[in-house]
Amino acid sequence: MRIIYWFKRDLRLEDNVGFSEACQQARQLIPIFIFDQNLLAELGGTASRIGFLVDCLQRLNSQLQEKGSRLYCFYGQPDKIFPKLLAELKPEAIFTNQSYSWSGEETQAKVESLSRKYRADFRSFNDSLLVKPEKVEPRKVFRAFFKLWQKALESEDVSKKPGPSWINTPTLNWPSLEETLKLVSYQANHHWSSDYAEKRLRKYDFGKYDSLRNRLDLDGTSRLSVALRFGLVSVRQVLARAKEQLRAEDQFIKELAWREFWYHLKYHFPWTRDLEFQEKRCGLKWLNREEDIQAVEEARTGYPVIDAAIRQLKKEGWMHNRARLIVASFLTKDLLIDWRVGERLFKKYLLDYDEVVNVGNWQWSASVGADSRPFRMFNPVLQAQKFDPQCRYLKKYLPELKKASCRKIHSLELPQYYRPIVDHRAASVRVRQVYFS
Ligand SMILES: Cc1cc2nc3c(=O)[nH]c(=O)nc-3n(C[C@H](O)[C@H](O)[C@H](O)COP(=O)(O)OP(=O)(O)OC[C@H]3O[C@@H](n4cnc5c(N)ncnc54)[C@H](O)[C@@H]3O)c2cc1C
Repeated sequence: MRIIYWFKRDLRLEDNVGFSEACQQARQLIPIFIFDQNLLAELGGTASRIGFLVDCLQRLNSQLQEKGSRLYCFYGQPDKIFPKLLAELKPEAIFTNQSYSWSGEETQAKVESLSRKYRADFRSFNDSLLVKPEKVEPRKVFRAFFKLWQKALESEDVSKKPGPSWINTPTLNWPSLEETLKLVSYQANHHWSSDYAEKRLRKYDFGKYDSLRNRLDLDGTSRLSVALRFGLVSVRQVLARAKEQLRAEDQFIKELAWREFWYHLKYHFPWTRDLEFQEKRCGLKWLNREEDIQAVEEARTGYPVIDAAIRQLKKEGWMHNRARLIVASFLTKDLLIDWRVGERLFKKYLLDYDEVVNVGNWQWSASVGADSRPFRMFNPVLQAQKFDPQCRYLKKYLPELKKASCRKIHSLELPQYYRPIVDHRAASVRVRQVYFS
């Protein structure tokens, strides 16, 4: 059988469900990747996420070359490109891993219907989630979901799928990765390298996760979100490594389940892409003051923990989870900025940006999403004191505060620094009036 294999967010050969299946069934296998023009345009074309993607693709291409194959690469809209590929090559099938995000599903549906028109079989596989969203009965709170998810996971095949030993790929007059890269503008990403994932997975001490995960100043979390986002390692391998040290109900496993919870909600409540999960919280009176939005994005809110977190985001394309929670609470509650604005801010800079996970978390943080607590708000000063007691995180990203004492930083006695753009205590009163009136 001649098969086109369409790589999307699964940029690896090892333990890749769809690719492994394609390798087993194909007489001829043609691996392709498409830079989706529309998605790139949304990002402004220079985001360092694209730089990282390029790094991942170069790595994938050399892995394919080691197996006698190569990556053909296109730039444009998948539904415009596929008709040409299908007409020219007449493959018996297109294989790919299932997209579960809103935008990914839309694109995939168009390609699926095209393949029917050209009489090619279209087969998609679940690779990115441990349990498919539809396998768990709808649940609106995480705790109830987690129980059902754990049960469903017991009957899932999470074994490692074999990688290819050799791939038979024909030489075609189709563009190579290098040729297509000439059409793509991107910024090289100097902070993350595509080969970090396997090393991190091997070396990370999952046993320390529970006690260190909230500390901003320590390298306590796995940092595997970027690897999972681009499919540099499989989620099954992450689970397997974690289980060597942890029990099924330990916090790290819960975090993997949180990732799937958002996909579960998206599947059962698909309108939540733009609309609040909690109907009663639709149409809140956001202030959306342009000067506040700018102060956040330019990291000059006068709250060191917010400014440090934004600098981390812009410098590294990643932000610690505790910092994401503090920033999202500050933006939506202290400043009354619409969670959709925050969602877009993270979209612009996060390397691990995942539409479904980001929307879910922003809604949760804004207390408009799937949270059993009616309202929560963090005090940015207390959070910094608790999770960065010696100000190491703050001083790392705000070197201008290097000489200030930690006590002064934590009590905001910083005449040389930006004045706080909002008074947290007054903001706590104001936000409750908006949410509960
Ligand atoms: C406002 C906000 C926006 C977020 N946006 C994203 C996003 O776009 N993409 C993204 O991958 N994560 C997002 N998160 C979740 C979380 O912050 C990151 O997954 C985590 O910080 C990544 O670091 P890590 O790999 O060290 O995570 P760890 O703490 O080591 O967790 C292990 C893995 O579990 C998953 N995970 C952990 N926490 C969550 C969570 N709250 N929701 C879903 N999955 C989780 C991730 O895949 C992560 O890699 C967001 C959180 C908040 C509060």
